[in-house]
Amino acid sequence: METIGFIGLGIMGRPMAANLLEAGYPVVAHNRTQQAVDELAEAGAEAASSPREVAERSEVVITMLPDSPDVEAVVLGEDGVAEGLSEGALYVDMSSIAPATSRELHEALESKGVEAVDAPVSGGQPAAESGDLSIMVGGSDAAVERARPILEVLGKSVTHIGPAGAGQVAKAANQVLVALTIQGVAEALTLARKAGVDAGKVREALLGGLAQSKILEMHGERMLSGDFDPGFKLSLHRKDLAIALQTAREAGVPMLATAQAAELMNALLAGGHGDEDHAVLSLFYGELAGSKAG
Ligand code: NAP
Repeated sequence: METIGFIGLGIMGRPMAANLLEAGYPVVAHNRTQQAVDELAEAGAEAASSPREVAERSEVVITMLPDSPDVEAVVLGEDGVAEGLSEGALYVDMSSIAPATSRELHEALESKGVEAVDAPVSGGQPAAESGDLSIMVGGSDAAVERARPILEVLGKSVTHIGPAGAGQVAKAANQVLVALTIQGVAEALTLARKAGVDAGKVREALLGGLAQSKILEMHGERMLSGDFDPGFKLSLHRKDLAIALQTAREAGVPMLATAQAAELMNALLAGGHGDEDHAVLSLFYGELAGSKAG
């Protein structure tokens, strides 16, 4: 089996790398903070001290980092992945970043004889742990087919959307839908509470009807309990909406509801909620209605 380099061992990257080890792949790992690498080493990974060293010791390199500048720095920066990869290697970025940045990375690596795939994911921490992510893939047919067996360890659905950057466009669309659904759930549960009925019972009833959704189930539960430990950090979702809005601008698409959701997130970021789960959007609705939670 090919040796896989894995860079970025956060909420998502750590369980994904662990699943690759579990499936029998040798894994060489690196993270900004060493503790996550040490923990993965206990599960059988080898540690590397820089992205360059990861790439030198791997045939396939996966990154799972926060944002476009992080991925650019880790791949194209000093001691970066590009310096270490050999011709014929495969690079798979599973972070959610701007499609334009993704295309630039594909081009920079192709000029060194390295194939690249953008493969952002949906499903959150629970799906990262169980290997049930939905993976949206961009790249050439050959590169995607090479990546597929690895991606199938991490996800239950692997969809080749189109050429370089296409996976990131799909992910931006996903994040629009998730943000707007969270807003809807927050507004609906606030309505129930302020109108004097049990919001928990309302959620339970709605889960059996047309309004059923994973977000009503998972984020609705968080809103009711007030548990906003991430999960998915609000700051990262705000980053994704910025990507969606920029992509929409380039494509000439007005995004009225998304722009509003991004502004709500800005207000919560300014209030110090950036490291909390994105279900914390419900606080905004609760405050507007003069009640504590959404
Ligand atoms: P996270 O918990 O913040 O993890 C990011 C990881 O990247 C951290 O371990 C961080 O190191 C590491 N890192 C940052 N800069 C680095 C660098 N220069 N070199 C090496 N490592 C570096 O974020 P996450 O929730 O796992 O999300 C990762 C990506 O997946 C994001 O693009 C996010 O939008 C996307 N995503 C997240 C979810 C979710 O539910 N969480 C779902 C789908 C997609 P430290 O340990 O030092 O902080």
